Amino acid sequence: MKVLVILTGGTISMVRNAQTGALQPADLHTFKAFVPEMFASETQVNMIPFDPLLDSSDLNPDSWRQMAQIVYDHYEQYDGFVILHGTDTMSYSASALSFMFDNLSKPIVFTGSQLPIGMLRSDAKENLLTSIEIAAAYDQEGKPFVPEVCLYMDGSLYRGNRTTKRNAEHFSAFNSYNYPALARAGVHITYNKALIGNYGNACHPLKLKTNFDTRVAILKLFPGITEPVVASILDSPGLRGVVLETFGAGNAPSHEWLYRRLYNAVEKGLVIVNKTQCNTGSVAMGHYAVSMNLLKAGVLSGYDITTEALLTKMMLLLGEFPNDNKKVKELLLMPLCGEFTNE
Ligand code: ASP
Repeated sequence: MKVLVILTGGTISMVRNAQTGALQPADLHTFKAFVPEMFASETQVNMIPFDPLLDSSDLNPDSWRQMAQIVYDHYEQYDGFVILHGTDTMSYSASALSFMFDNLSKPIVFTGSQLPIGMLRSDAKENLLTSIEIAAAYDQEGKPFVPEVCLYMDGSLYRGNRTTKRNAEHFSAFNSYNYPALARAGVHITYNKALIGNYGNACHPLKLKTNFDTRVAILKLFPGITEPVVASILDSPGLRGVVLETFGAGNAPSHEWLYRRLYNAVEKGLVIVNKTQCNTGSVAMGHYAVSMNLLKAGVLSGYDITTEALLTKMMLLLGEFPNDNKKVKELLLMPLCGEFTNE
């Protein structure tokens, strides 16, 4: 088996400078020295680092393109891919990559760590070695166990576009609130095969989509929100899409001005999707009177999608179909690779 590891940066790539004590990115040589096991198993591992290595707060759609392009360029030569990434924005990157490929039929496993690779108590080694094992896991018929973009951390493998970073302190930094884990790693790695998706047709060539439109915004409602604040976002020049973060099952204050502003924005061509501020559960527009207005204004339901998945999916669809809002809306309401459940 052959696995390609793409090192983008983040805490996992850090070591402490012996003189200053500060954490700094390790060069490839130092990184390899900390995990010699990586190159000592029966899986053949090669590594491509970003230059420079980046904190994940500095990653953006160009970085997603860079990661996806490396996978695309090496797709035939490798059985699986591991992307080492800072944990802060890992869920955005994993979501973005899940939407960028058509016919993905090999594993892409994102992982990182809460403590640098160069520290004794680091969680980096386990996360990295288990991710490599998952990326190389194939059955006897030659089919990968997890032909999805996924995220592994602290014993749990999740569908990438279902994850959210939930903890800045514990090793278990991520959760997938609305979809169970695809696998658990203890003494053995136990895969939950019924939950793993097969979204790509291995007989068709891999296709990569790279056009992101970043003219999007997240509008988070709160009790007491004022019209000028809402207007400043909805009237932003060139804006094309909005993730509207609502209360509970997708509810919003019943101000007349809010309804009017949203209605006019949709009429003007903005794509607005309702995403609940709750981690668990789904938007159910029309269930309460206070969400009826949103429905009437033309706001779409995001069901139980995460903000990370909705935002990246919206950016990609707006970029891929710049003049076809109807298509963008149709695809936003459709799960493309398991990112939400609508029944
Ligand atoms: N700031 C770091 C990053 O996201 C944190 C981490 O890797 O855990 O790059």
